[in-house]
Amino acid sequence: MELLDTRARAVRDLRISVTDRCNFRCVYCMPKEVYGRDYAFLPRRQLLTFEEIERIARAFVRNGVRKLRITGGEPLVRRDLERLVAQLRALGDVDLTLTTNGSLLPQKAQALADAGLDRVTVSLDSLDDDVFRSMNDVGFPVERVLDGIDAAAAAGLPVKVNCVVKRGVNEDGLVEMARFFRGAGHVLRFIEYMDVGHTNGWRLDDVVPADEIVARIGADLPLEPVPPAYSGEVATRWRYRDGSGEIGVISSVTKPFCGSCTRARLSAEGRLYTCLFASRGQDLRRLLRSGAGDGELDEAIRQVWRRRTDRYSELRSRATPDLQKVEMSYIGG
Ligand code: SAM
Repeated sequence: MELLDTRARAVRDLRISVTDRCNFRCVYCMPKEVYGRDYAFLPRRQLLTFEEIERIARAFVRNGVRKLRITGGEPLVRRDLERLVAQLRALGDVDLTLTTNGSLLPQKAQALADAGLDRVTVSLDSLDDDVFRSMNDVGFPVERVLDGIDAAAAAGLPVKVNCVVKRGVNEDGLVEMARFFRGAGHVLRFIEYMDVGHTNGWRLDDVVPADEIVARIGADLPLEPVPPAYSGEVATRWRYRDGSGEIGVISSVTKPFCGSCTRARLSAEGRLYTCLFASRGQDLRRLLRSGAGDGELDEAIRQVWRRRTDRYSELRSRATPDLQKVEMSYIGG
């Protein structure tokens, strides 16, 4: 019987965080004041092993998941990640993808493609080097992320580019981004700045609404809407009227899509979350390490999903950012 939550939503996607560490300190995600030298990241023994991740992913696939996304933290800082990709590839006909800041793709792209990764999403918030360096806050240059994107494309991986838009920070570069990636043939997706976690000091005023993003780009590069490719698609799609490609906008703040959310998230230490904005997760690692069989694992997952009521983005208000939600770097973006 199909596994459905309290709002009749199936589980279709599993986002797997493989580490809570990152080599960037993006101001809206892992601000330096919080994630400084003294920050206590998870010790290695607390991370799920690749074998444990594979077991949990396999259970999710048995229960309806069709898409696996590896994320973090920065997933490519976890050693031998291509080994996990190969293990997940062996689960069969699932869409297997990875979200990365791109910094390590020049070294890693070919191995990931060879291991069976289907495609990659690279985060890049600006083409303006000064703006990008100040957003990643470790002085990482745009050029090297572009090298990573090129390496992925050269390895045969389709690339999408994610750009988080923050008012007054990178909004002036949106049209330049659109023009550039249209030319390069990669789909660019703009993401409304969200109130994930509680360390980024989010304010509603910092959000550039998706409608405004589309209007700004459309004024220079005329756009028309594209119907969704499948139900539950996160990004709203727009194509250039001249047929030269498309963009997506992810409007979790101004037009929440909780009603069609089919995503589960596994933290690097094995906690299962049913919403990006959750404050509590179910400990699957303890279950695995206590010797549970596949039947027990399935049952634990099914119970969590059946009880799922989450619709945070629909309930968001000026008061909700103060809730003690888990951080995106921990739960996996
Ligand atoms: N390190 C990888 C990366 O940079 O893509 C994967 C993890 S990162 C948390 C995943 C995505 O979440 C990135 O595209 C990032 O820009 C986005 N993100 C992080 N904090 C966000 C926020 N507050 N609002 C919107 N998107 C955010």
